[in-house]
Amino acid sequence: MTDQLKHLRKPIAATSQMKKLMAAHFLELDEAQKTGRQKIAWCTSVGPAELLHAMGFLVYYPENHGALLGATRMATEVIPLANAVGYSPDICSYLTADVGSYLKGLTPLTKAYGIQSVPKADILVYNTNQCRDVQDWFSFYAREWNVPIIGIHTHRNIGKVEDFHVTDIVLQMKAMIPVLEAVSGAKFDIDRLREVVDLSLQCTRLWRRVLECGAAIPAPLTFFDATIHMAPAVVLRGKPEAVEYYKLLISELEDRIRLKEGAVKNERHRLYWDGMPVWGKLRELSDQFYQLKTNVVASTYCNSWIFDAFDPKTPFESMARAYTELFIVRDESFKESYMDNWIKNFSIDGVIFHDAKTCPNNSNDRYSMPQRMAKRLSIPTLVIHGDLNDLRCYSEEQTRTNIEAFVEQLDQKVP
Ligand code: SF4
Repeated sequence: MTDQLKHLRKPIAATSQMKKLMAAHFLELDEAQKTGRQKIAWCTSVGPAELLHAMGFLVYYPENHGALLGATRMATEVIPLANAVGYSPDICSYLTADVGSYLKGLTPLTKAYGIQSVPKADILVYNTNQCRDVQDWFSFYAREWNVPIIGIHTHRNIGKVEDFHVTDIVLQMKAMIPVLEAVSGAKFDIDRLREVVDLSLQCTRLWRRVLECGAAIPAPLTFFDATIHMAPAVVLRGKPEAVEYYKLLISELEDRIRLKEGAVKNERHRLYWDGMPVWGKLRELSDQFYQLKTNVVASTYCNSWIFDAFDPKTPFESMARAYTELFIVRDESFKESYMDNWIKNFSIDGVIFHDAKTCPNNSNDRYSMPQRMAKRLSIPTLVIHGDLNDLRCYSEEQTRTNIEAFVEQLDQKVP
């Protein structure tokens, strides 16, 4: 069936350009590591990447490597190695997969790009806006390689982002500059930072437009497409290539909207996905929804790379605001009103919450949100239990059955 579906679903033509960009990104890092020509900073997904680019670093994002380990299912093979040295199976499976892959000397970059190992960091830079695990994750490599580790400690579970939150983060970022100068050998230049923030702003605005294409009926892309096409927004923000790429992708998606060409043929239901993807089961889930004529048209996860606040006129303040306005940083009331808006604007008729065993930070079902949402919006919700990377926590059969039953419930609502 999967092969038939591959033929039924029209592939996104821009994908080949995206693959080239990703290859160039990893090969540039590999080359820099081999020649020592440019310093490498590791950065968490919403760490201060703009500052690192402005200081002349090449920036590497281990969470992206974590997702690759999940998508290739290598994660399940290597996680036990991290467990064996004391990293619990209950903590972030990006962390355990990444550390396990390092311990085993395996990476999906070898098959994809002929690269033997992930690039070694000259400095590790985290932001705890998403979770504490990133600090522990980077600390493993700081000990392993004896390289500096610095970080931003973000206020969490907040409603409104207040000026004092922003001021605090600005001060923390400015305090990083002398350390970054010492490692990179470059002097900080505010004009260069403004340029990078401007590029990040352009990228994020285009990425928002890509995702907003999902509001069209039928939607020209699915959540599963977006998890793939978000890669440039994740690893190339602050670089012109990402901006060019999203212009290309948007033009293709807008053509599909004009032609009323849905990503799912005869789209009948439209869902919102909250929580992490199940990286090792993207294909299976995508195929199942396709067969059920159901499109997952919006998600919290892919929206996490929309940073409306960037402003090159106030680079530090706007970066601090952008990194703190993130969904994952906010309290339940903010999250609920945020999701309500997307649910209304995207004509959503059901919501799936993925409870990822090893990521409580991105599992929003644990404090009764689905029940409150179902009541408030009169919308069906479903919680599926699984994980981003550790497939030992995921039952394919049970998930399939639950999704089927959920869509049957939606069918009954269709006049
Ligand atoms: S937010 Fe979740 S998936 Fe991301 S690094 Fe933290 S624990 Fe891991």
